[in-house]
Amino acid sequence: MPGGIAILALPATLPAAIEARFGDQPVFIARDDDGVRRLVVGIPLVQAPGATLIQLRDPQTQQEIGSLPFTLVAKTYPEQRITLPPDSKHVHPGPEELARYEREAKEQQAIYKRFSGSPGAWPAFVQPTAGQLTATFGRKRFFNGEERQPHLGMDIAAPEGQVVVAPAAGVVVQTGDYFFNGRTVLIDHGQGLVSMLCHLSEFRVAAGARLRAGEPIGLVGKTGRATGPHLHWTVSLNDARIDPLLVLPPSSTAGTGISAPKSP
Ligand SMILES: [Zn+2]
Repeated sequence: MPGGIAILALPATLPAAIEARFGDQPVFIARDDDGVRRLVVGIPLVQAPGATLIQLRDPQTQQEIGSLPFTLVAKTYPEQRITLPPDSKHVHPGPEELARYEREAKEQQAIYKRFSGSPGAWPAFVQPTAGQLTATFGRKRFFNGEERQPHLGMDIAAPEGQVVVAPAAGVVVQTGDYFFNGRTVLIDHGQGLVSMLCHLSEFRVAAGARLRAGEPIGLVGKTGRATGPHLHWTVSLNDARIDPLLVLPPSSTAGTGISAPKSP
């Protein structure tokens, strides 16, 4: 479904060296202990339901050697209405602020398109901070009645200053102070899987830092467009923003009964 994950087993008959693509993006190839390879594919929120496919290529020659079809089902996400002070710069940004936002969005999009590393295990995830889940992924948002971009992550309400940790092992790609997202840390978990953690009061890591899951990266805050202290967490897979609940273990406090993919 849009905003979800498709897990597709690669037939054992396929060669060891293989590259999979969904649209123009390379796809995460998870290799289990038993040697089984599975494609873990992020589905963009805007993807239309129906039949679609993954292209398989020879990484050397870039020649197509097959495809894996799958079917997307529709999903309707709920609406969320948020009231901000009408004079807030985050409701009606001026031209300078819009230019800044566009520059920052481009930077982030380039990070989402990265593809580092080779086939390996799907990483284990932990919830990056404890707290109540206040805004789920995919909600259609209205700021003071005006429709905006849907919510492309998960919000966890938590006290200002509470420690935020790396949700999975990875490398810090970038830190910054962004117009909408506030103080932010972007972590590359490998093979096109990226986390973005926003609205921090401060971050305590720098680009290039290697992190284990659960290692502190900063503190909960309300920098950027935030009505109160909370952590916003985006998960991107093959440049598709997906529901972070899907990667968390089902026992997580933010869990609402949706299970994480079983060792994809
Ligand atoms: Zn959010």
